[in-house]
Amino acid sequence: MQTVDHIICGDYVLTMNEKMDLIRDGAVAVKDAKIVDVDISENILKKYSSEKIIEGKGRAVLPGLINTHTHAAMVYFRGLADDMSLKDWLENHIWPAENKWLSHEFVFDATELACLEMLKAGVTTYNDMYFFGNSVAAASKKMGMRAVIGAGIVDFPTKTGNSADDYISNAERFIDDWKGDGLIIPCIAPHSAYTCSPDTLKKVRAAAERLNVLVSIHISETEWEVDEIKLLYGKRPVEHLDAAGFLNERVVAAHCVWVEDNEIEMLADRKVGISHCMESNLKLASGFAPVVTMLTAGVKVTFGTDGAASNNDLNILSEMSTTAKVHKAISGDPTVLNSKTVLTMATRWGAEVLGLGDRIGSIEKGKLADIITVDLKKPHLTPMYDVYSHIVYAAMASDVETVMVNGRVLVNNGMFVAADEEEILQKASEWGRKITLWSNGVME
Ligand SMILES: [Zn+2]
Repeated sequence: MQTVDHIICGDYVLTMNEKMDLIRDGAVAVKDAKIVDVDISENILKKYSSEKIIEGKGRAVLPGLINTHTHAAMVYFRGLADDMSLKDWLENHIWPAENKWLSHEFVFDATELACLEMLKAGVTTYNDMYFFGNSVAAASKKMGMRAVIGAGIVDFPTKTGNSADDYISNAERFIDDWKGDGLIIPCIAPHSAYTCSPDTLKKVRAAAERLNVLVSIHISETEWEVDEIKLLYGKRPVEHLDAAGFLNERVVAAHCVWVEDNEIEMLADRKVGISHCMESNLKLASGFAPVVTMLTAGVKVTFGTDGAASNNDLNILSEMSTTAKVHKAISGDPTVLNSKTVLTMATRWGAEVLGLGDRIGSIEKGKLADIITVDLKKPHLTPMYDVYSHIVYAAMASDVETVMVNGRVLVNNGMFVAADEEEILQKASEWGRKITLWSNGVME
C-alpha cells in the first residue's frame, strides 16, 4: 500500500480528459500536489492508503472550474453603478471610483474577497487583468488559489503609472518577481486596442515574446469599439491587431462579441483563445458573441465572468448554464453547446488557453490536483440521469462541497478553511462603507 495525502471519492469522477472518461464509483489519489492515480474506488483503495479520505457517496468529482477573464478586485465596486452603457459605466463611474480608491491595500483586500467567492463556487484558477499586480498575486497566494495575473497596460496615466512605458517596465518587473511561483503565473495585459496605441501593442508583444508569457486583452466588446478602431486605423479590431502581428496562441481575447467571419478565421488561424463573458455582455447589452460560429471554425472558446461590477458575480457554474441557453435561443438550435462541450470549455479548454493544459484542466495522472466535489444529494439534482447535464444546467455554487488547489483543501464541506472568512467579509463591509460615503458626495 502506498501512502498518499488525500483520496477523493465520488459516485462519478468526470475526468474531462480527451476521451471524456467518466468513472462510476471512482476515486482520485493525491500526493505532493499531484494526481497520482484515478480509477474505480475499489482499485484506488486497494493500492493507496491515506488519513484523509473524502467520502464519495452522493458526490461528483471534477476538475476545478477556470475563469479565463476577470478583474478580481472590482468585487468592491459590485452594485455601485448598474443599468447603464459600458462607456457611461466606465468613464463616469468605474474609472472615477478606481482613481479615488485603488491602492495596494484596496486591491489586496478586494482580491481576497474575490478569491473567496470563486473558490466557494468551485473556481480554482482565474485570469486577472488589473493594476497593483503584486497585491493581486499576494492575495491570491494567501488564499491558496491558482491565478494567471496580468499587469495592466494603458496609454493614459493612472495611480500606477504615467505612460505606457511605465506600465510596461512595471509589468516586466512584476513578471520577473513572480516567475516560477507554484500558484501565481504572471502575464501581461494590455487593456484593449482603443486604450493602447499600435506602438504600445508592439512593445507589449515584444515583452511577451522576450519573457515568454501569456497576453490578455479585451477585443471587440462593443460596437462603439469597432467604430472607434475603424475610425482610427481603417480596420476592424481583429484585422487591426492581426495586421500588427499581435495575434498568436499566447493571446487570450476577452469578449470578441463584434467579430465578422473573416475575423473569426483569423482568430482560428492564429490559435487565439477566447474568453466569452456572457453575463457581462448581457448586462451591459454589449451584444451576443458568435460563439457557435467560433466553435465551428475551431476557435477555443472558454468562460470568463469579467469583473463583478458588470456581471455581478464570479460564478462559472451560472455562466455555463446561461451561455448554453442563450446560444441555443439565438441560433434557433437547441442541439448546440451541449453539456459536455460546455463543461470542457470551463475546464480543459480553460487550462489550454491559459497555457496550462499540461498541468491542470482535467483529472489525469501527473496533473496538479485542482479538484472539486459537488454534493448531489439536493432536490434540484435528484434523480440523476446525466451528471454532465446536472452540473451544467442544474447545479448551484452552494452545491460545491470540497475545493482542492495544488493538493491543498481550501473548502471543506462548503466552508472556507484556508483563511478567516469572517475577517474578509468584515474588511469588505468597511471598505463598502467608505466608498458609499464618497459616492454620496460626503467624502472628497
Ligand atoms: Zn474585462
